[in-house]
Amino acid sequence: METTLVILKPSAILHGYAGQIINRFQQKGLVIHGIKMMQLSDELLREHYAHLVDRPFFPDLMKSMQASPVIVMALWGKDAVEVVRMMTGATNGRKALPGTIRGDFSMSGQENIVHASDSLENAEIELRRFFKPEEILHYEPTFLNYTYEPAELL
Ligand code: UDP
Ligand code: MG
Repeated sequence: METTLVILKPSAILHGYAGQIINRFQQKGLVIHGIKMMQLSDELLREHYAHLVDRPFFPDLMKSMQASPVIVMALWGKDAVEVVRMMTGATNGRKALPGTIRGDFSMSGQENIVHASDSLENAEIELRRFFKPEEILHYEPTFLNYTYEPAELL
């Protein structure tokens, strides 16, 4: 099993979409092992988007990510990193396929509703960045036998 980081961005919070998006992940079978609301600091965002700091849109991205608190989530499941990235869709909401979160909720490259870790390595780094160890609570719901076949649970 893997755990991945999802951020419900201000574009989700300010539209009132948080519940609908959390529901999609739960309906899929991902389990919430961590969830909290937080206001992102300059320092945290510069670290999180270090690969983008030199891009011309970076100041706008900072402003957008600080427009409201965000909800950060640790989601647990088999191949969770890849599954959540597939559910998230392409970066630009206008290019994201219908059925994906960005494809269904976004018309924008910047205001694209969710962040999702893009690799297992980055998921581990990002979970440490946004959560204290004691804020991630590992538990296994009773429905797992109906979510997965036996071999998938080994
Ligand atoms: N972003 C943007 N313009 C761009 C590329 C990215 O505003 O041309 C923003 C967008 O909100 C995106 C975030 O920067 O989600 C991180 O970019 P990345 O390339 O990592 O895309 P993601 O992994 O979120 O799909
Ligand atoms: Mg990314």
